[in-house]
Amino acid sequence: MRDAWRALLSRTACGEPVFSFDETRRWGQTELEQLSASGLLREGGQAQFVTCDACDGAHQEEVIWRSSVREPSGMRAYIPCPVEMTVHVPAERLRQWSVDADEMARQIAAAMELAGTVESVLVGRLWKLGRRRLAGRFRDTFFAIVTDTDGQTITETAVARLNATHGILLVLGNRDRLKGWHVANFTVLEAPEVVSFGDGRLDVSLDYIEDALPRERTAEKSAVIRSVPIPEGTRWEQLSIAVLETSLLVKSCGYEKELSLEEAGFADARQGEGVSDRPLQVLRLFASRRGRIVLGELPGGERERSRVRKQVSVLRTRFRSLFAIDGDPIILEKAPGRYRCAFEVRLGGDSGYPTPAGASWLDFRIEEVADGRIALGVKSKQVFRARRFQEDQDRPFSETAERDERVWREYSMTTLGLAKDSGHPTPEGQTLLEILRSEGKLQRPTDDMTVLKLGRWLREWTGIEDDPIRYSTGKRAWIAHFECGPPRKR
Ligand SMILES: [Zn+2]
Repeated sequence: MRDAWRALLSRTACGEPVFSFDETRRWGQTELEQLSASGLLREGGQAQFVTCDACDGAHQEEVIWRSSVREPSGMRAYIPCPVEMTVHVPAERLRQWSVDADEMARQIAAAMELAGTVESVLVGRLWKLGRRRLAGRFRDTFFAIVTDTDGQTITETAVARLNATHGILLVLGNRDRLKGWHVANFTVLEAPEVVSFGDGRLDVSLDYIEDALPRERTAEKSAVIRSVPIPEGTRWEQLSIAVLETSLLVKSCGYEKELSLEEAGFADARQGEGVSDRPLQVLRLFASRRGRIVLGELPGGERERSRVRKQVSVLRTRFRSLFAIDGDPIILEKAPGRYRCAFEVRLGGDSGYPTPAGASWLDFRIEEVADGRIALGVKSKQVFRARRFQEDQDRPFSETAERDERVWREYSMTTLGLAKDSGHPTPEGQTLLEILRSEGKLQRPTDDMTVLKLGRWLREWTGIEDDPIRYSTGKRAWIAHFECGPPRKR
């Protein structure tokens, strides 16, 4: 496979990315099949020139077509030969394949797990591949095929199109052509050193690239964190993170990736075992409270509050490193004095509502709150305890027990499946909102399927067997059996 791949790279670098049948035959069937299947090589039209294989001259001749009754097409290909006069060329030998450089650019971007879309900046010569965090910084990666004298155009265009402060330029071809042109803030790497092809797929060595990148001293600590490739333009609200025992499960707009805690920058090995990871503790606290920490409710007074403040600041930096998303990942809401994650966060396995034993729909109050969220308050005599702080020797935190003895939790409707990723409610979600807005009453037919489906969903989610929404013939409307209405001051 190496030979075919090397030939493909060097031919592309020369600006003549076409292979004849004779050449591909020397590679062996698997190599041609794999490169074709990957889309890097595409079969094109018939060759117009063919090398003579009838004499020892190996002379290249233009193909001549003559009518022939022996061919189904009625035409036969020949080349002239000084020895054999005319040589018949079987149709097979006229097959040829060319390199799809756009496809190569796309596959490099995919192998590097870059965020953003691949852009052809200079047709056939320069591509902007996307962005990710490498060696402690966000970097835009470009791919260039440098053939003859276009070094200046390529470097100038790449510099002009660099949006991050730092860039990587992968060069296929004559890198010397770039010498003398201004490529400050770019690390220029030879594509053949970094890009390989094996087992039918293109691969990029990120380790090699990271080793080649300059490492800033200030970035040293978070240098091990590579960013998570999420779609460009993703907002924090579209991100959902489940905190599991040893990993984070990240979801966004159909994209899903499980990051080990180490990959996410937690459980720093250099600190050695036994040192608890304080940012992780605070992240788990956020997760256990569905993304909110009210400072006034923390036990331990000012010392504890200042500890949480410090870790929130660490978490902000951490999440900005992990995700190329603009804006603040953790928002301080000054008036209630609380931190709110701009993304959805929960503990792993926490998919259903933790309904207290013996609760009925009469114990529930559901309210619509801002940002496509709903809040559920449930009356309970017991005080909930935040879960899973085994590695923390500090006292466990209690959940918020309100004056009316309700425990409140907020959920994004998207995470619950009651709204699409766009935030637009599903029919069930819309029905729930209508019920909440009309304080528990809904004018719909007795056999309205959406109401029935919503009722079933609420039963399954909470584990309460009774119907939450029932049709009243007297009132000629659907009536909610939980409390609902505009948000109360809590
Ligand atoms: Zn010949």
